[in-house]
Amino acid sequence: MKTFDVATDARILMIDDEPANILFLEQVLNRAGYENVLSTSDPREALGLYQSFSPDIVLLDLLMPYLNGFAVMKQLREIIAPDDYRPILILTADISREKKEQALAEGAMDFLTKPLEIPEVLLRLRNLLKTRQLYLNAQQALVEERELNQLKNRFISMVSHEFRTPLSIILSSTELLEHYGKQWPPEKQNKHLQRIKTSVIHLNQLIGDVLILGRTEAGRIAFHPRWLDLEPFCRELMEELQLTLNTQHTLVTTIEGENSMLWIDPNALRSILYNLASNAIKFSPEGGPVTLCVQCQSEQIRLIVQDQGIGIPPEACSRLYEAFYRAENAALLPGTGLGLVIVQRLLKAHRGAIEFQSELHRGTAFTVTFPRIDGAIDE
Ligand code: ATP
Ligand code: MG
Repeated sequence: MKTFDVATDARILMIDDEPANILFLEQVLNRAGYENVLSTSDPREALGLYQSFSPDIVLLDLLMPYLNGFAVMKQLREIIAPDDYRPILILTADISREKKEQALAEGAMDFLTKPLEIPEVLLRLRNLLKTRQLYLNAQQALVEERELNQLKNRFISMVSHEFRTPLSIILSSTELLEHYGKQWPPEKQNKHLQRIKTSVIHLNQLIGDVLILGRTEAGRIAFHPRWLDLEPFCRELMEELQLTLNTQHTLVTTIEGENSMLWIDPNALRSILYNLASNAIKFSPEGGPVTLCVQCQSEQIRLIVQDQGIGIPPEACSRLYEAFYRAENAALLPGTGLGLVIVQRLLKAHRGAIEFQSELHRGTAFTVTFPRIDGAIDE
């Protein structure tokens, strides 16, 4: 979780009609390590600056020409959300009790009396910013909790959807074998045994994916890089896929450029290419070519997996790397929505990057890029 650091992250907006006060406070704040301070001596600019700068705290003078501090507070109150915590700290020369109460009632959080005492300024500012920090961290935790909840919901719907089908196949085939197995010819018995076996393999694969995801989430990816020649590696992998996936697609591998040696973990690369190529095959149900193009460039190696399949709907593009997310047009094709998440996590460990281009009903190209870092990534 990215937490808010009071000194380096806090944005401070200062509004005081006296330029000498502003200069003095700017120096004090800069010396204390505050890096983002913006100020104006014209209170009419306060609202615009507030909107563009989005400060974490406002230091506000009360007695000013054109608009006094109360009028500025009124303007700000109208745009600050009621559940937001962005303190206003009033800077003022001696102030009556009545005015003090009015300022507090109208949204001020604290006061600093002029002439300003530097330690007091810094302490009060820090206290308010600490509270702002707690508020922001709580907001962030809330967002993360919401995301976790969505993930949990998607996981539950994936489990109920993806686990139920193979489990019901296993149940129905075992029941049929139990009741009629003895009367059936061996081929028919075998057919049901095969269905059970395929379902168990599928379930096992699902659990494997969830476990990999858990491990990558916890940052525990086994990582054993070595020098690997991508040319034979990619050709063999695509040939193996052509045979094992038993598809009518034409799988093609092309190599461009010189030197296909890369410092990489072969198991990770295998998993990345397997996921991308099996997606390309699965998401082009009408067949067609699936190509893997290896582009060897001087600074990097690019691997492009391209298909002529169903494509990715625009609204799904920003969500593809979310666990269990599947685009609407993929609903009828099997899958759990974990492949790309795993690919992305593996790439991160290799300082690799992934991007894609896609057109609905036309096809998709996923491009994976690895920098040529000679042995610099260690286990
Ligand atoms: P899993 O990989 O876990 O079996 P999946 O293939 O559905 O399931 P991902 O590989 O993570 O999941 O892909 C997420 C989604 O991205 C897919 O459900 C699909 O909507 C979309 N997608 C990925 N690759 C392609 C592609 N080549 N063409 C069209 N859509 C794709
Ligand atoms: Mg997939």
